[in-house]
Amino acid sequence: SRRTIIAGNWKMNLRGQSSSELAKGIVAAVGENPSVDVVLCPPNVYLGAVAEATAGTPVSIGAQNVYAADDGAFTGEVNPSMLTDVGCRYVILGHSERRAIMGETDAQISEKLHAALAGNLVPIVCVGETLEDREAGNTEKVVETQLRGSLAGLDEVRAAGIVVAYEPVWAIGTGKTASPEQAEEVHAFIRKLLGELFTDDVAGQIRIQYGGSVKPGNAKELLGQPNIDGALVGGASLKTDDFAGIIAAG
Ligand code: 13P
Repeated sequence: SRRTIIAGNWKMNLRGQSSSELAKGIVAAVGENPSVDVVLCPPNVYLGAVAEATAGTPVSIGAQNVYAADDGAFTGEVNPSMLTDVGCRYVILGHSERRAIMGETDAQISEKLHAALAGNLVPIVCVGETLEDREAGNTEKVVETQLRGSLAGLDEVRAAGIVVAYEPVWAIGTGKTASPEQAEEVHAFIRKLLGELFTDDVAGQIRIQYGGSVKPGNAKELLGQPNIDGALVGGASLKTDDFAGIIAAG
């Protein structure tokens, strides 16, 4: 059975002090023996502060992006080795904001995936359709294209350890959550596709998170669906009580 994984994507928010305070609050709320995996993903500049606040606790940290290259002349970028050096265990890849704003492609996400795995990071690979895609009946097609492209060249052994996040773009930051049925339908589709890409056994091991306006009030129902194995939380991960409430629902 898959262990639930609740991750907070802080996006481009907070400062050093507020990052430390939030991390400490989550550590306190989580306790010593949580029944779910908890991951905090602050902006890179605050990874050190959050690593310090979570050191020796069950709370893990992750980055929101990575660059797929060894050390060298890549001004402004950060590679997997640097992320593990500051204590990261996870890295979010292909978030819809990076796809839409920075123009990240499935091919680039696949490169990042391989670099992350080679660097001992657990990738959280994000996929999800826009409202336009959904209304045109293209949800499965879009998600399938993103997954096939982002996971290109991935072998079965490594595939079992990745995390996939289904984040419908129309539900991100909008307060419009996918209904548990809508989310479960796509999660089941993703699991079936992962079975085709790898094996059913591997697909059964891959954790699939839902993301998009997850709140303490809707988390339990979403996490109760058979193919929803966790949550990738934006806005509600910035408040200790809200994120603790979501963790408690897991
Ligand atoms: P919200 O929870 O703010 O909708 O953001 C979801 C998200 O994009 C997490 O990666």
